[in-house]
Formats: sequence, C-alpha cells, structure tokens
Amino acid sequence: CGIVGYVGPQNALDVVLEGLRRLEYRGYDSAGVAVRVGGSGGGQLASAKKAGKLANLEKVLADQPLPESTIGIGHTRWATHGGPTDRNAHPHLSADGRVAVIHNGIIENFAALRAECEAAGVEFRSDTDTEVVAHLLAAVYPELPEGPGRLAEALRAVSRRLEGAFTLVAAHADEPDTLVASRRNSPLVVGVGDGEYFLGSDVAAFIAHTREARELGQDQVVEIDRTRGLTVTDFDGAPAEPVAYTVDWDA
Ligand code: GLU
Repeated sequence: CGIVGYVGPQNALDVVLEGLRRLEYRGYDSAGVAVRVGGSGGGQLASAKKAGKLANLEKVLADQPLPESTIGIGHTRWATHGGPTDRNAHPHLSADGRVAVIHNGIIENFAALRAECEAAGVEFRSDTDTEVVAHLLAAVYPELPEGPGRLAEALRAVSRRLEGAFTLVAAHADEPDTLVASRRNSPLVVGVGDGEYFLGSDVAAFIAHTREARELGQDQVVEIDRTRGLTVTDFDGAPAEPVAYTVDWDA
C-alpha cells in the first residue's frame, strides 16, 4: 500500500517513519521497517513489523530500538494474500536474512514461484505473495558478478519473472550504499535531495525533504546509490530516462 525508501546521511529510520506517517491517508492494516547496519564489510539487516496502526510498530521500536543507519525501507500493508498479521507484514526477508523486500500490489504467479522455491528447500514464513521475491533475489544475487549494479541486476532478473502489479523495493546486507526498486502497473517515484535519495509509492513519502521528483515508467528498475547516484533501466538493463518534475503542492 505505502512504500518509503531512503539512502543518505540522515538516520534512515526517522526518515522512513516520517514518510509512513504521511502515507497513512491511504489506509493500511500493518506496518514494518528494515535498516542496514554495519560498514562496507559484514553488514546486516535489522527489521521490525507489526499488525495494526503505525503506533503499534512504534511501540515495538521503542522497546527494541533499531540501530542508526543510512539505508532504510518502510511499508504500510493493505493485505491481499494472507491475513493482516505480524508475520504477513512487510518487510519480508530471505532465509539467510540478507535480503529485505517491501511490495505494493499483487504477484499473480506467486504460487508457481513459491513451489519452485519450496522445491529448492526454502521454508516460507508468511502467507503473502510478496515473500517469494526475497527468496528469488537471495538465489540470483550470488550468481551475479560482484561490483556496482549487482543488486539492480538481481532485481531486473527477478522482475522479468513476475506477473501482475508490483512496486518493489529491496535492500541487501552486502550493499552499504544502495537501494533498488522496480515497478509494473503500480506507481514508483524517486525523490532527489542533496546527497540523499528517496523512494515512494507517492511523493507524500518524501515531500518533507525534497520537491525534486523522478517518476519511473512501466517495467523499469531504479538504483539509488550514495556515491553513484540514480540509475534507471528497463527490465533488460537498457538505460531509461525517468520523467523529472518538481512537486508544487504544500507539504
Ligand atoms: N500483496 C501484498 C500483500 O498482501 C502487498 C499488499 C499491499 O499492496 O500492501 O502482502
């Protein structure tokens, strides 16, 4: 339902929670966040999620705070597959905990993809259509060459296999400066700040921080990277140009 992502010098959790608050108007049944912690080697993901209002998630975070971080993602869920429970809330993590995914929309062919993952030995921890994406990303990432653009390439490979409607955002524990996102039949907007980047299901996610927006086209993947900036391609990796605009309404 609502999606926020952040890469930059501010504490990511604060930015993400503020974005989620501004997306509350859309309605939702659960909320969750993930941040990446650690230096360039040995990073980890930390996450928290909870059914109900954002206040429920904030109570969990008050009891078990997440570390400071420069990368964060957040989601408010409107359940389509699997009831509105804690375990079905996003983010969904891969079995090794190194990939985190949030998703808006419906992945129509999730049952076949889930069966494929289960045949490979993956145990699912939710009833969602979304979780399959975390496992597919975790499977494809190690097969790709190390270096810049690896996570974006993994997301392109997975996105090519998905049917339905999706805005997806993914973080990887091994990627200290990068978030990637993908879209088909569901909106995705990038906010460009001063040395920082935002992702949102709409501009409300980052309007408190920047008015410079880029709207992704159908079947595109974006990488936001603290050092390399913004890169947009289609699902096959061909460079694409997002539509740039300035948000002109009051925050
Ligand atoms: N289909 C996903 C789920 O049920 C995402 C729903 C949404 O857009 O919030 O978890």
